[in-house]
Amino acid sequence: KAKSDGRGLTRIFSDELASAAETRRELQADLEEAWRLRQFRLVYQPIYEADSRRLAGFEALLRWTHPTRGEVRPDQFIPVAEETGLIARLGAWVLETACTDAMQWPDSLFVSVNLSPVQFRDGAVEAQVYRALKRSGLPHHRLELEITESTLLQKEVETQAILADFRRSEISIALDDFGTGYSSLRYLIDFQIDRIKVDRYFVEGLADKSSSQAIIQAILALASTLGLKCTAEGVETEEQAEMLGAGGCTHLQGYLLGRPLQPEQARALAHAARHRLEAS
Ligand code: C2E
Ligand code: MG
Ligand code: MG
Ligand code: MG
Repeated sequence: KAKSDGRGLTRIFSDELASAAETRRELQADLEEAWRLRQFRLVYQPIYEADSRRLAGFEALLRWTHPTRGEVRPDQFIPVAEETGLIARLGAWVLETACTDAMQWPDSLFVSVNLSPVQFRDGAVEAQVYRALKRSGLPHHRLELEITESTLLQKEVETQAILADFRRSEISIALDDFGTGYSSLRYLIDFQIDRIKVDRYFVEGLADKSSSQAIIQAILALASTLGLKCTAEGVETEEQAEMLGAGGCTHLQGYLLGRPLQPEQARALAHAARHRLEAS
């Protein structure tokens, strides 16, 4: 299509493509280097109970500070780490670091860790999860694993067995970005899911899009019927928080309630929240 638009545009188009490919190649090499030089770290975004607004736990989010590019977003580098295979080592490190950090919080709080479909595909995920729990000493029920619908699409029988095993071990499973993937309601029944995370896209449209309102209402009704917990992502306004709480959403996460925090800040918040509770 670009060709029919004339030479100028074609050249711009292919230059852009070439530079995208180049950026990707650079990222691949830089990621290996980053792993060697330990340029990765985790930040923790608080998750609150919707009705009481009590702190319930934190989601661990990966950060990479590149020496010249600065902060590289996980949406950009995780797909590359999945291609190169680095995700296996990186994913294991995330699990162990998150479980170890969570040991510093009051034991009523959970930690939620994002898992890549590739960690399931290569069969390493079970060993990684149990090793992280064992090395950190974190009780199983304090760990939640966030998977996406694309994880459920691949190696269905094997994945179902792994998730059932996690469930038997009291590890929780959350279905992340719910509503944006190849959602099939069958997943909620066939796979042992504890929680749905409503994607930020729907939360964003809550105030002025009736379609988003209808979808959120349907998701919340479904979650409640199936006895699933539900976290809304990307809550930025009090209006959104109120609509979600009224609709039966159990947990809220977003800039309104808190940005992702450095581990020390998360730890301080976790302990401050406990003291507030004890005082009340
Ligand atoms: P996610 O798991 O859906 O994480 C939520 C994303 O929304 C995070 O982006 C978070 O910073 C952002 N967010 C939270 N509240 C708000 C809000 O109120 N407004 C807006 N605009 N954004 C909000 P982040 O940290 O850039 O991560 C992006 C994605 O990268 C994550 O989406 C997750 O899919 C992936 N990711 C992050 N850490 C890891 C990891 O350790 N392993 C794997 N496999 N994936 C990860
Ligand atoms: Mg997540
Ligand atoms: Mg999400
Ligand atoms: Mg997301």
